[in-house]
Amino acid sequence: MFNIILFGPPGSGKGTQSEKLIAKYGLIHLSTGDLLRKEMRENTPLGLEAKSFIEKGQLVPDEVVIGMISTAVDANPQTNGFLFDGFPRTVAQAEALDKLLSLKKTSINSVLFLKVNEEELIKRLVNRAKTSGRLDDADPEIQKNRQQVYKNETLPVAAYYQKFDKVVDIVGEGSIDEIFDALCKEINARNTATSVNSL
Ligand code: ADP
Repeated sequence: MFNIILFGPPGSGKGTQSEKLIAKYGLIHLSTGDLLRKEMRENTPLGLEAKSFIEKGQLVPDEVVIGMISTAVDANPQTNGFLFDGFPRTVAQAEALDKLLSLKKTSINSVLFLKVNEEELIKRLVNRAKTSGRLDDADPEIQKNRQQVYKNETLPVAAYYQKFDKVVDIVGEGSIDEIFDALCKEINARNTATSVNSL
């Protein structure tokens, strides 16, 4: 199996690039944001719980998202691999993910970190708010909270994987195709022989 984490702040382009990467490499896309929004649309108990956090720009509790990811990984034993998007968002989630994957005799191959300057991020999120219909995009106060949560709780996840030499910085500015090419180059270079060729 070949597993990637697409990492970066809100607005860094994880969702857009994920779609292209899963198509090219035949991976399963696991976006905790998408999974949580689906639960909310369907008004499940999990969705209702998640809503109260998401609407404030706070993180949903670790055990909730870890449970969701664990179920999704278990449901796809035959896949080429997973692309994690928006997860892990805390060090506790990263540790849980590593444990979960090692039980399946696999691990994270690379953490691709989309780097985008703050001014550009704000511009993109303001634009996304016009079309996404997402409450957490529309309100500047909630936005600010999400950026703060990213800095305090999510950035340490990059430091966690740096210890294992798994983090690759990718320039997240430029055209969608330029960024996609940079991601593919890294995936191909870092995962020679064993994993990519056997996809
Ligand atoms: P973005 O791509 O803009 O960062 P997401 O769609 O990934 O946003 O997530 C939206 C919201 O869902 C987050 O602000 C958070 O409240 C919740 N969420 C998503 N993933 C996680 C996670 N792994 N842990 C905790 N909360 C999460």
